[in-house]
Amino acid sequence: MKNTLTIALSKGRIFKETLPMLAHAGITPVDDPETSRKLILDTNRDDVKLVIIRASDVPTYVQYGAAEIGVAGKDVLMEHGGEGLYEPVDLKIAQCRLMVAGIPDKDSGNRRTRIATKYVNSTRRYYAEQGKQVEVIKLYGSMELAPIVGLADKIVDVVDTGNTLKANGLVPMEHIADISSRLIVNKAAMKMQSARIKEFIQLIEEAVSAS
Ligand code: AMP
Repeated sequence: MKNTLTIALSKGRIFKETLPMLAHAGITPVDDPETSRKLILDTNRDDVKLVIIRASDVPTYVQYGAAEIGVAGKDVLMEHGGEGLYEPVDLKIAQCRLMVAGIPDKDSGNRRTRIATKYVNSTRRYYAEQGKQVEVIKLYGSMELAPIVGLADKIVDVVDTGNTLKANGLVPMEHIADISSRLIVNKAAMKMQSARIKEFIQLIEEAVSAS
């Protein structure tokens, strides 16, 4: 049996906001990922390691069991599909909304509406459920630019304060989903290391309730 518990996290907001919850579970990283170049961080516990990866890769690491546990945004999980994963705890951090946004009073005329997004799967699913035919254009960042330069009619992106949309002359138009970060667990690991992972989940749940 594998004895190390590996937890996959991304840098930035998720790491910072997950840290106090890990501390409640008795886990403190030895290195700071913002200053260290290490991708595997040791913790105060010999049997727990943290891997620091891109947010959109976290579900993949956990799905394939390279990490038993991870923290990922619901936006990333919706896009991944959630195969091979349990999602036992809503950590209620990094809250925002997945939205359709665009330039007010502008429509695509007779042409099929073009939507620029990095959330291709979620966008296709959303419009399919609405029974609307759209063309989805995959981008990797700065989605707000696409309607301004005429690359797309609308965008699908996560919105927090709405300041980024506003600064670029865009308005939120349709709400697709409320987003927050979730604790995710590899399905096989949940069976193989059941007692240990359930104890960890319980401590994280306590930390969420206390915050
Ligand atoms: P806003 O506060 O709406 O201006 O958000 C600024 C930018 O930060 C947005 O374009 C998003 O791409 C990003 N953002 C906001 N909240 C989150 C979040 N919870 N997770 C990931 N990205 C976010």
